[in-house]
Amino acid sequence: MSGLARRLRAADPGWTARADVIVVGSGVAGLSAALRARAIGRTVLLVTKAQVNEGSTWWAQGGIAAALAEDDSPEDHLRDTLVAGVGLCDVDAVRVLVTEGPAAVRDLMTTGARFDRDASGAIALTREGGHHRDRIAHAGGDATGAEVSRALVAAVRDDPGIEVVENALAIDLLREDTGAAQGITLHVMGSGQRDGVGAALAPTVILATGGFGQVFGQTTNPYVSTGDGVALALRAGADIADLEFVQFHPTVMWLGPLAQGQQPLVSEAVRGEGAVLLDASGSAFMRDEHPLADLAPRDVVAKAIMRRMRAEGSAHVWLDGRRLGADMWLQRFPTILESCRSRGIDPVTDLIPVAPAQHFVSGGIRTDLWGRASIPGLYACGEVACTGVHGANRLASNSLLEGLVFARRIISAVKEDPVEAREPVAPAGPADLLPHVVRRPMQQVMDAHAGVLRSAASLSRGQDDLAALAAADGAAPSTEDWESTNLHQIATVLVRQALAREETRGSHWREDFPDRDDERWRCRLVTRVADDGELVTRKEPVFGEDS
Ligand SMILES: Cc1cc2nc3c(=O)[nH]c(=O)nc-3n(C[C@H](O)[C@H](O)[C@H](O)COP(=O)(O)OP(=O)(O)OC[C@H]3O[C@@H](n4cnc5c(N)ncnc54)[C@H](O)[C@@H]3O)c2cc1C
Repeated sequence: MSGLARRLRAADPGWTARADVIVVGSGVAGLSAALRARAIGRTVLLVTKAQVNEGSTWWAQGGIAAALAEDDSPEDHLRDTLVAGVGLCDVDAVRVLVTEGPAAVRDLMTTGARFDRDASGAIALTREGGHHRDRIAHAGGDATGAEVSRALVAAVRDDPGIEVVENALAIDLLREDTGAAQGITLHVMGSGQRDGVGAALAPTVILATGGFGQVFGQTTNPYVSTGDGVALALRAGADIADLEFVQFHPTVMWLGPLAQGQQPLVSEAVRGEGAVLLDASGSAFMRDEHPLADLAPRDVVAKAIMRRMRAEGSAHVWLDGRRLGADMWLQRFPTILESCRSRGIDPVTDLIPVAPAQHFVSGGIRTDLWGRASIPGLYACGEVACTGVHGANRLASNSLLEGLVFARRIISAVKEDPVEAREPVAPAGPADLLPHVVRRPMQQVMDAHAGVLRSAASLSRGQDDLAALAAADGAAPSTEDWESTNLHQIATVLVRQALAREETRGSHWREDFPDRDDERWRCRLVTRVADDGELVTRKEPVFGEDS
C-alpha cells in the first residue's frame, strides 16, 4: 500500500457522513451541480476546503460568453472557440457549450444573478480577445464572478437538502471492489462534530475543485487553486488530459521581481474597451502581430509580450487605458481601478505595468460529453475537468459558461446512470506524502523550466528537479502537505506531457519546435497511473470535425 493510503488508514476515519451526491468545491461548477442535483430530488453533501466563496469564480472579472445578442449565433461562438483551441477542441463538446450556453445563463439569472444592463434594459454585452461579436455578459462592471458566486451561494444556503461543510479538504477517492466511486476521505477543521479525518460516502462524486495555478510562482488564481481534484483522480487511476496547455494571461499587473502567489489581473475587457499595449519605446506593437491587434487570442498576445520583453530586456510592458476616461474606469472597471490605485497607479492618468502570468488550465480530468470521468460514479465539472471545449487554448470568458453548462449535463447523466451505494474498500493510492517545504522550490522549477517559454532542455531539467524534490521527507498529514503533494504530482504530469508534445500549439510554446505539427500532434495526451504505480501516457484522437 502507498504511503498516503497507509497514513490515511492509520488515521482511521473518525466520522462518516452519507448523501446521494457528494460535490467537492463551491465555485460556479460545484454550486451549480449541487442545485441541479436537488432539482432531481437528490440529497447533497457539498464540501469545500475554505469558505464557500473562495475560489477562482469569485475573482472572475470579464464575464460570461454566450450568444445572447440578435446579431450573434451559437455557430459564430463555436467558430471563435475553435480558432482559439487551435485544432484540439472536441467539436461536439464545443457545440454543447455554445448551444446550451444561452439557456444556462438565463437559468443563472432565474437563480438570482443580476447582470449589467444597457440603456434599453437589455443585457449589456461586451467583447474580449478572440471574439468576433459582443457576447460577454458582465455584472457589477468587472465583478461578474462575485455576483455569480453571491447568487449561487444564496440559493444553496436556502436549500435544506444541501449540507455545506466548509474547511473540509477532500483527500482521496473511496472505491468499492468493482472500482466504482463510493465517496471520499476528508480532513475537516473547526466544524465541531466533524473534525479531523472522516469519510463522506455516496455513489456519485462530483469533483469541482477548480484549477492549479499555484503550481507556478505567479498566478491570477487564489490560494485554494492547488489542483487537488486532478491529483485525487490521478491517484485513483482516472484519465488526466491536456495538462501541458496552461494559459498565461497577457495582462497581469507586474508588482516587481519578488512578487509571489496570486497577482492582480487586468481583464481583457479593458482592451475590449480600447486600452492598448505599449512597449518600452511607446510603440503599440500588437498592431503588427495579428489582425485583431490587442484583442488577438491570449496565447498570441502573451507570446508577443514575451518576445518584446526579451528583445528589450525588460520585465514588463505597459497597458495604456488612459483613453477610456475616468467615467469608464469608474463605472465599467471599479474593481480593477481600485486594485491599481491601491498600488499607487492611477490608470486614468498612468500606464499600468503588465506581464504574463499563469491564469487558466485547459486540461484536467478527462470527461465525456456528460462530465463522466473514466471511473464509474466519478464526474468532473468546471476548471478541474477536461471536457475538450478549450483545446489548446481557452477563448476568454468560456470557463464560467463551461461550469454552468456541464453541471446541468452531469446531473442529467446522474439521473440515468446506474448507482448502488456499497461499502468502499480503501482510499485510492498510490502517492507518498511530501512535506510543504517542497512547494516553493517546485514553483521555482516550474517558472524556470515550464512557463511560457519551453524547450526539451528546460523541460528535461524541470523533470530531473521535480524528481529530486520527490525524495524530500518529513511530511505529516496536514492541509499544507496534502496540497504540496497534489501540486507536485500535477507538475510531474504537466512537464511529462509538455516534453512529449514536440510542437508549438495554442498555449504550449516550444522554442525547439516552433511550428504546429498536425501530422504528429493533432491529438490529446492522456496520462494515468497504471496498476504498478507508474505513469503511462497515450495519444487519443480529438473528437468531431475540425472547422
Ligand atoms: C482573476 C481571474 C479572473 C477570471 N475571469 C474570468 C472571466 O471573466 N470569465 C470566465 O469565464 N472565467 C474567468 N476566470 C476563470 C474562471 O473564474 C474559472 O475557470 C472558474 O471560476 C472555475 O470555476 P470552478 O467552479 O471550476 O472552480 P473554482 O471557482 O476555483 O472553485 C473551486 C472550489 O473547489 C474548492 N476546493 C479545491 N480543492 C479542494 C479540496 N481538496 N477539497 C475541498 N474543496 C476544494 C475551492 O475551495 C473552491 O471552492 C478567471 C479566473 C481568475 C483567477
